[in-house]
Amino acid sequence: ETDASASAPLLQTCLQAAHPEQPGQPARRPLAIQDFDIGCPLGKGKFGSVYLARLKESRFIVALKVLFKSQIEKEGVEHQLRREVEIQAHLHHPNILRLYNYFHDTRRVYLILEYAPRGELYKELLRSHTLDEKRTATIMEELADALAYCHAKKVIHRDIKPENLLLGFRGEVKIADFGWSVHTPSLRRKTMCGTLDYLPPEMIEGRTYDEKVDLWCIGVLCYELLVGSPPFESASHSETYRRILKVDVRFPPAMPVGAQDLISRLLRFQPGERLPLSQILVHPWVKAHSRR
Ligand code: AMP
Repeated sequence: ETDASASAPLLQTCLQAAHPEQPGQPARRPLAIQDFDIGCPLGKGKFGSVYLARLKESRFIVALKVLFKSQIEKEGVEHQLRREVEIQAHLHHPNILRLYNYFHDTRRVYLILEYAPRGELYKELLRSHTLDEKRTATIMEELADALAYCHAKKVIHRDIKPENLLLGFRGEVKIADFGWSVHTPSLRRKTMCGTLDYLPPEMIEGRTYDEKVDLWCIGVLCYELLVGSPPFESASHSETYRRILKVDVRFPPAMPVGAQDLISRLLRFQPGERLPLSQILVHPWVKAHSRR
């Protein structure tokens, strides 16, 4: 894909480590922490920390996510982690954070991730409160393209929100955190943690759901980026649920009509009525403002 050439030396190191006995290629020992120079911490998550790191051999910069096995076992999320790694490692798209490889030692699991130099979209939104039409429409086009790629591979993300979107060198969006993603279709019920603001009606009601949950989520995201707060935000969880199930969306008067039209077509109670990803890419407001 597009950025494959830039990461070629790293890819070679990582892929050989993952498949050491590929015919015609020299056998390679698995990667280990000694292969990296470790830089500053980039952030902290529930199960460990993320560091800026550089492969000594190729000098390639990555983000190294360090997870403690003890914590993963304590929380019983081995399955979820395995799924996250397997899914993300197979997705190659400019707007999906690459997971190049992984390795482990006795106490830790290490994920070698693409480094996203401009950090979290969430933090940018905190700083600037809202994004302009140009920026938002560009992000919508990037997400529609990345999700179309995922859905074609029968992967649904289920958890698109500003906290799970990182930013590349030119401010382009990178979908991260496939911890909740699944292969379609799914009967699983969402066990709750974090925000309810992005939950689609069918997930609240515990019904079967499919890839169209992601259409709802990017509708909520589009609103939050332009307005500064998500559409169903309320004082209590029960009120948020109630407003989601009623699809009680109110647009501020200053909201551009083109964006209102797009959001209204995504925030539909019936999943089958939501605007398909291919139609987002050609929506007049997206076409007029996206700089992708
Ligand atoms: P996480 O454990 O995935 O929630 O990551 C913790 C924090 O580290 C995130 O909130 C980001 O600020 C930062 N971070 C994680 N992955 C990367 C990455 N690939 N590039 C840059 N920063 C990252």
